[in-house]
Amino acid sequence: MAENRDNSTDQMKLWKASRATQKADRLTTGGGHPVGDKLNLQTAGSRGPLLVQDVVFTDEMAHFDRERIPERVVHAKGAGAFGYFQVTHDVTRYCKAKVFEHIGKSTPVAVRFSTVAGESGSADTVRDPRGFAVKFYTEDGNWDLTGNNTPIFFIKDAMLFPSFIHTQKRNPQTHMKDPDMVWDFWSLRPESLHQVSFLFSDRGLPDGFRHMNGYGSHTFKMVNAADECFYCKFHYKTDQGIKNLPVDEAERLAATNPDYAIGDLFNAIASGNHPSWTMSIQIMTFDQAEKYQFNPFDLTKIWPHKDYPLIPVGKLVLNRNPTNYFVEVEQMAFDPSNMPPGIEPSPDKMLQGRLFSYPDTHRHRLGANYLQIPVNCPYRTRVANYQRDGPMCLSDNQGGAPNYFPNSFSAPEAQPGFMESKFKVLPDVARYNTSDEDNVTQVRDFYTRVLNEEQQQRLCQNLAGSLKGAQLFIQKRMVETLKAVHPGYASRVQACLDQHNKEAKKKPNLHVYTRPGAPTLTASSKM
Ligand code: NDP
Repeated sequence: MAENRDNSTDQMKLWKASRATQKADRLTTGGGHPVGDKLNLQTAGSRGPLLVQDVVFTDEMAHFDRERIPERVVHAKGAGAFGYFQVTHDVTRYCKAKVFEHIGKSTPVAVRFSTVAGESGSADTVRDPRGFAVKFYTEDGNWDLTGNNTPIFFIKDAMLFPSFIHTQKRNPQTHMKDPDMVWDFWSLRPESLHQVSFLFSDRGLPDGFRHMNGYGSHTFKMVNAADECFYCKFHYKTDQGIKNLPVDEAERLAATNPDYAIGDLFNAIASGNHPSWTMSIQIMTFDQAEKYQFNPFDLTKIWPHKDYPLIPVGKLVLNRNPTNYFVEVEQMAFDPSNMPPGIEPSPDKMLQGRLFSYPDTHRHRLGANYLQIPVNCPYRTRVANYQRDGPMCLSDNQGGAPNYFPNSFSAPEAQPGFMESKFKVLPDVARYNTSDEDNVTQVRDFYTRVLNEEQQQRLCQNLAGSLKGAQLFIQKRMVETLKAVHPGYASRVQACLDQHNKEAKKKPNLHVYTRPGAPTLTASSKM
């Protein structure tokens, strides 16, 4: 019914209303030439053929043929919004970054929320971590805190990232999602147990993007004005309250309203209901990091609140929708290596891998000059360097300024006051295997202390509901790894699997996989 339409549904009507007092624009080609007829090809006779000289047609068709840029390999489906971050508590004793300069200071931000594994047209309400990426436009360049709605991740060594993501995407032959790939990897890599347990808990299906927490996830380094360094973690707690979707509701929405989360965010902001999050940090000294019982740079682990309490910092508020999705959201490029003075990387191996991978991806997706695209541009500072040219150079390319350094002709000089902090690295260089560094204690804490009885049961049901799709030997291996966390966790999952497997035996086996020249494999094949 027309009266009940929300802002996202009524976008076209609202746009027209906003232009009510203006004359319609003159239609032109991409080159700005007025167009006389936009409905009919220029042809030799009414039955054709088409003339190559119909540049009104070729101009538009050639552009249309090039509309898509490469889809993000991960986080392809997402929503963007804009707003500000305001400091509410002084943390300058830890950090000199301009964004935290004084209480009341406000910095413009761009935010993108996303699912991880699905393609750009996939449903918003699937069980998947959610991306929670924030770009702070600071006077010392942009700061991108490119996080998720979980404080941890499935892996801790960036070497595994491409393989891990392959398991979440599509089977190389069938082009279908493949539970064997997913659970084979997870059961072979027990460091994933913590994040897997989060994922199959209630918070694995957040109700839109407004009702979930965000985390910088990695450990970062903060540097204060006296050049003292601290390790740090970032948290954003939702001010809207945590809200999750029941499994059946998420499935219903995936079928009937796959853009549920994008619409929810757009409509909330359009109606003045601006979502916000409270940012806090955890701080660990270098000395504490040396002595702590867990590796503080391990992305599969949290820093317990009782040891490292949350220190409030400020408020993140979203109050503007994008005016154009492609320009402001599809082209939005987050890069953990965008770190202004005062914020630096820790040794976290996943963070170190992302410092390379993210800008590398953007150069592929958007081109070498992607930082000139307005949404990515560090517009609150003046970029002055020796980078020049490349495809789609949209700036003045730094005019006549010298393009080499050093030079004798008044060009950008290095700023010794902005040197990165010094730190010692003593150990031997090697390929260290850290996969078995206590993968269970924090998962046990999560299962036994954070989740109540019903939440535990739902976690086990959800997990088994997915694991049941994998071959039996993978199911068994996964249950074995859960045993090490908590016997109750393993036995509940096993009980749910037994139930599923009993029911599956009664039905004909639908999961038959054949490959030319290879024996037929079924879901019950043993290896
Ligand atoms: P606390 O006992 O102080 O707090 C528990 C944390 O768990 C809170 O941050 C809470 O978030 C969060 N939480 C509650 N339900 C879920 C869920 N279903 N999925 C994910 N997170 C949830 O925690 P500790 O610091 O002592 O850590 C205990 C365990 O809690 C950890 O092993 C970890 O598994 C989990 N956890 C810890 C976090 C941390 O940074 N320390 C962050 C998130 C989870 P909220 O306050 O919003 O309700």
